[in-house]
Amino acid sequence: MGSVGAKDVPILMTPDGRRIDGRRWDELRPIHIVAGPLRQADGSAFVEWGANKVMAAVYGPREVHPRHLQENHRAIVQCRYNMAAFSVDERKRPGLDRRSQEISKVIAEAFDSVVFAEEFPRTSIDVYIEVLQANAGTRCAGVVAASVALADAGIPMVDLLPAVAVGKVAGEIVLDLKKEEDNFGEADLPMAMVPQSGRMVLLQMEGHMTRDELSKALDLGVKGCRDVHEKMKEALRTRYTTTDAGAEA
Ligand code: ADP
Repeated sequence: MGSVGAKDVPILMTPDGRRIDGRRWDELRPIHIVAGPLRQADGSAFVEWGANKVMAAVYGPREVHPRHLQENHRAIVQCRYNMAAFSVDERKRPGLDRRSQEISKVIAEAFDSVVFAEEFPRTSIDVYIEVLQANAGTRCAGVVAASVALADAGIPMVDLLPAVAVGKVAGEIVLDLKKEEDNFGEADLPMAMVPQSGRMVLLQMEGHMTRDELSKALDLGVKGCRDVHEKMKEALRTRYTTTDAGAEA
């Protein structure tokens, strides 16, 4: 959320309540999820969410690297979130910057709280998230992709982990910010939720909201997560009800 001159700020909300891409305040961007596109990984998923394109791969449970991280009574969950150098049109320095490290850490912690880690002592479950095209909400798309990839890998979990960002744009609480809304809006609040219990396992916030707005944003996020959850289940159903004919060898 950088500060810019007034002349650079696009119109984020029309008088009749339409957003920059025509959506209403409570609408998600189109989401398409494919489970299992990478046959070499133990599990994988590809997520197209608005203009975001995110691939996730899961390996494990497998030997822990580096070895000193190994825990005797449980598996550890390691995550590497990376934004490809070509994923944004501004110049992005390739490699893991501080933002990527922070996102990797919060995503690993979110999955650590839903995976039945005690079933796989002394192992690592490695989650890789590669953002190929970014348009805001990539950590949420990453969580969704990784969650479907973990399920595809057969890792036992409490539940799938849907995620979505809510925010405040032109004074309104809105669901699923796109890039311009993220850049020029007043607040951005990504979250991931365990659908069964409603427990939040990832919740971050940048910007400002009142308590009432925060409460409305959380309710909207919960509804958004439930809709994303349906799409995740649908992707897994499709994966396991279609034959492998025509798939890579
Ligand atoms: P998220 O993608 O989870 O919303 P941020 O709020 O940090 O995470 O980023 C919002 C958007 O800003 C990203 O999705 C991406 O489009 C863009 N962005 C983030 N980091 C960079 C960067 N280093 N260079 C260019 N664009 C970036």
